[in-house]
Amino acid sequence: MSVNIAIDGPAGAGKSTVSRALAKELGYLYVDTGAMYRAIAYYFVSREYPLTNESFAQNCKNAKVELHYENGEQRVLLNGTDVTSLIRSKEVTSAASLCSAVPEVREHLLALQQDLAARNDVVMDGRDIGTTILPHAQVKIFLTASPDRRAHRRCAELEEKGEKCSYDEILQQIIERDERDCSRKTSPLRQAEDAVLVDTSDMDIEMVVKTLIRIVEEKAAEQ
Ligand code: C5P
Repeated sequence: MSVNIAIDGPAGAGKSTVSRALAKELGYLYVDTGAMYRAIAYYFVSREYPLTNESFAQNCKNAKVELHYENGEQRVLLNGTDVTSLIRSKEVTSAASLCSAVPEVREHLLALQQDLAARNDVVMDGRDIGTTILPHAQVKIFLTASPDRRAHRRCAELEEKGEKCSYDEILQQIIERDERDCSRKTSPLRQAEDAVLVDTSDMDIEMVVKTLIRIVEEKAAEQ
């Protein structure tokens, strides 16, 4: 049976960085489910389709998302085209938050996520991995940090890429995304009962990764 590690939490808690590092450390596949929602969002944004619930529900089936791995790095394919470098814009980020609230979109991606986890040892990050996608994951972690710390981290990331950043604007977006992710009817963001809470506000990446490895080892010893 494959080993599944589920990592959930709000935007900017450091999920993708630490999940990638943890997967590398353990020799597991890293599955970034946010990238799948972003690929669907990109499908709508690039075609200038309306970003409404009806439009997402009707058209999402035409957006075929696949994950490929090159030297251990995840690549996202949309209808056969690699869109990995196109899905991080503000526009796509905002559309991803909208489309991910639509049940048909979540249903569309569910099988792909569950199938990857059934066939591989994975560290999978997202919003509903421990609660809905992999309820039987051997290890569940809920990673969080204060909105202020998360906004500072996002700004630092953008500035590193040479993009302009307004702290107030990013903070506002984070608060809005949290609100949408937590209040939607389908698979809202919440901590699974059996997940371990890790607050990364005052931790650097190395400390978080070490903490997660310790949690994984403790769980393995219990099982
Ligand atoms: O994690 P990331 O910021 O890339 O996710 C993009 C969007 O996809 C988030 O705003 C969130 O609404 C959504 N998402 C989700 N469920 C997941 C992963 C991401 O709803 N498992």
